[in-house]
Amino acid sequence: MAPPGKTLIVTEHFCFRGDATWKASDEELSESTVASLVNLRLINRHEVLNRVVVRIPCAYPLFEVGYAEHYRTICGYLSRYRNLHPIGRGGLFKYCNMDHAIESGITAAEEILLKNVRSAGIFDDRLAPTGTHS
Ligand SMILES: Cc1cc2nc3c(=O)[nH]c(=O)nc-3n(C[C@H](O)[C@H](O)[C@H](O)COP(=O)(O)OP(=O)(O)OC[C@H]3O[C@@H](n4cnc5c(N)ncnc54)[C@H](O)[C@@H]3O)c2cc1C
Repeated sequence: MAPPGKTLIVTEHFCFRGDATWKASDEELSESTVASLVNLRLINRHEVLNRVVVRIPCAYPLFEVGYAEHYRTICGYLSRYRNLHPIGRGGLFKYCNMDHAIESGITAAEEILLKNVRSAGIFDDRLAPTGTHS
């Protein structure tokens, strides 16, 4: 947590366990990060109050060879549940970014709201999200 009135900046260094980045010291990593942020004119050096390095092995999920068949089996099974709305990266098992994950949540919420409005018999054009009006 940042102290009151301050903020924090998180940067990521992608690497593989055992490579040069992984083996670099905390001081080397934090110094190169600060230098880059200063160089990009995002911060001034004197504004940096503290630095912390967190190493996360296995941060990124990998698709297994042959996953697609399992994916199809699971999707086929889940599709029988009309009131189940898989969303997000884990739920959809899609390599999506943050914006797509959020969009999938918004779309699911809109679909649920629309269904409820329809089943309550009070469907109103003003409540239909663009493109879903039938
Ligand atoms: C290393 C890394 C870097 C990334 N960088 C970027 C980037 O720069 N830009 C970008 O747009 N996207 C980036 N992404 C992708 C982005 O993080 C995902 O697309 C996004 O977080 C997916 O959101 P989500 O809500 O679907 O899943 P998540 O953010 O993973 O949220 C799922 C939540 O469910 C919780 N959970 C899981 N199982 C259970 C359970 N059984 N009970 C209760 N809770 C549970 C988890 O703890 C987690 O909090 C990155 C991903 C990784 C891994």
